[in-house]
Amino acid sequence: MSENIRVLLPEEELAARISELGAQISKDYEGESVFLVCILKGAAFFACELAKRITVPVIIDFMATSSYGSGTVSSGVVKIKKDLDLDPTGQNVIIVEDIIDSGNTLNYLGQLFKDRGAKSVRMVTMLDKPDRREVDVHVDYTGFTIPDQFVVGYGLDYDQKYRNLPYIGVVELD
Ligand code: 5GP
Repeated sequence: MSENIRVLLPEEELAARISELGAQISKDYEGESVFLVCILKGAAFFACELAKRITVPVIIDFMATSSYGSGTVSSGVVKIKKDLDLDPTGQNVIIVEDIIDSGNTLNYLGQLFKDRGAKSVRMVTMLDKPDRREVDVHVDYTGFTIPDQFVVGYGLDYDQKYRNLPYIGVVELD
């Protein structure tokens, strides 16, 4: 059995939308600075591209969480596997996610940064799959809303593969 990747969002579309998000964030935080929290590993490519398009001062830090076991269904329990190096107290935190699915990860992290004394907490996600939402989360900035399909590329993996694809695609098994 071989795997085929069908392109869902080509590279140019992603780049154009990320530029728009960067411009919107720059406008919304004019005169302030932002503290981007990139959720590893999936959001790494998106967070770096987005950071380059934000024109207010940016601090970037990285955190790793897990909500999934080995499968593709959320367990609902979020664990921090790697915490931040920097202190988010008093910062305008923007949590940067690759994709919001059940909503459990962002729901948990939003509360965590409020508890840690952030000045403000917003969320940006490259992709949103609203069909699979289990908890109601307010996402401030969304790249693309997509149907309920398992996607890879641009940081997203299937069994650690395909993160390096410059586009978002759907895995099809032949
Ligand atoms: P949530 O907590 O919202 O259910 O899950 C968010 C995390 O699940 C994402 O950060 C991502 O790691 C993973 N995830 C959800 N949907 C997909 C998908 O379609 N493809 C991949 N590769 N990961 C996904």
